[in-house]
Amino acid sequence: MTPTSHVVQASDEVSLRLAAKLAELIRCRTVSRPDRTLEDRAEFTRHVRAMNDLFPAIAGAVEQHTVGITGQLWHWRGAASLKPVVLMAHQDVVPVESEDDWEHPPFEGAIADGRVHGRGALDDKGDLACILEAADSLAATGFVPGQDVYFFFGDCEETAGATAAEAVDFLRERGVPPWLVLDEGGAVASQAFPGVNAPVGVIGVSEKGILDLLLEAEDAGGHASAPPAFGAVQRIARAILRLQRRPFPAGVHPVTQEMLKRLGSTAPGLVRTALRLVARPGRAAGEVLARVGAEPAAMVRTTVAATELQGSDGTNVLARRAAVTLNIRIAVTETVASAVAGVRRRIADPRIRHTVLSATEPSPISPVDCDQFALLEASMRHSHPAALAVPYIMMAATDARFFAAISEHVYRFAPLGMDKAQRGSIHGTNESVAIPELGKGVAFYQYLLRSL
Ligand SMILES: [Zn+2]
Repeated sequence: MTPTSHVVQASDEVSLRLAAKLAELIRCRTVSRPDRTLEDRAEFTRHVRAMNDLFPAIAGAVEQHTVGITGQLWHWRGAASLKPVVLMAHQDVVPVESEDDWEHPPFEGAIADGRVHGRGALDDKGDLACILEAADSLAATGFVPGQDVYFFFGDCEETAGATAAEAVDFLRERGVPPWLVLDEGGAVASQAFPGVNAPVGVIGVSEKGILDLLLEAEDAGGHASAPPAFGAVQRIARAILRLQRRPFPAGVHPVTQEMLKRLGSTAPGLVRTALRLVARPGRAAGEVLARVGAEPAAMVRTTVAATELQGSDGTNVLARRAAVTLNIRIAVTETVASAVAGVRRRIADPRIRHTVLSATEPSPISPVDCDQFALLEASMRHSHPAALAVPYIMMAATDARFFAAISEHVYRFAPLGMDKAQRGSIHGTNESVAIPELGKGVAFYQYLLRSL
């Protein structure tokens, strides 16, 4: 069976109709930039207009507020307002390095081989389209949600801009403490864990902190023909090596334990035993995971990546100043301050100066044993019956982290199935979403909205 014939059978009209709408959204080049004056404002405005035109029933049923520059916060009044819900996705996308590398031009919105192709298909317009289609189909029948629903569609998630913080201020000022916040993050992943065959719906319950730390060493400089035994460059090089030799301690957080336990429950014999062993609390299991690979290691410890290096700018000039920027992802058991102290202790060199360039604390951990998580699990059983729901700690950052200030129940999950290649295409080339997944995403959000 070709992929296309499979699609036509499995996909209901919903999926196909939504595929065409998603293609429209992809055609808006909503590329966000750290310097927002370099963004194409007309494309962002066009995207907001497309959201209104393509999903008219919900657009007409909500109160629309603009936050940031073109961020959209839509309020859908429910029968009650005691347990308000926030559903989020972002409108902006990351730039495309070389359009020629793409099989289908990234902003054409091509529909081919049972997929919608283009930048944002997965991150995050596919998710955004599912939310709006689910709400639109319900609003068209006169449905009123059981609780107030807020839709937040940010316009600068990829550049960590300020719109999400403004949306949080907006809700705080109006005294809205969300009962549940759901943003992008995890997905229904196949081939994600070795030995686990079932698709796994990974739901982010927290995200690691991020710290950019600048280390600098100074020195007399001079001519490269008579170099000192130990100058600024050697000092910085030694610091980098010390950080590599003495990584931060690995530990299995209870969330990771719960993830491994749930994965083990469906895995075949040997894998199950291994997962059970690794799921035990304590340092030993953490050290095992840290050795399995870069991703498991990132799950169990604070990681340090040396990124930008600076030295002399002449081939025969000694560096008067050498510097390295460390991009540090802080485990949820640590803080920015403890990570900085940990770096200082490891490099053990008082002559190296440090400067915090930017820092975000790890997010608080949202509970797993609660009605909110159970609702996400039930919605996923409805949309992806074969998938196993597991909590995890995200290693990347999302707009959701700002909402932890006003809600204890912030989760990161988009109900779209992705295999390894598709996950790799996020922020890369040939991003695309399988059309049947769009229908499933709509089913997920419809179930969730009906259950409030
Ligand atoms: Zn995203």
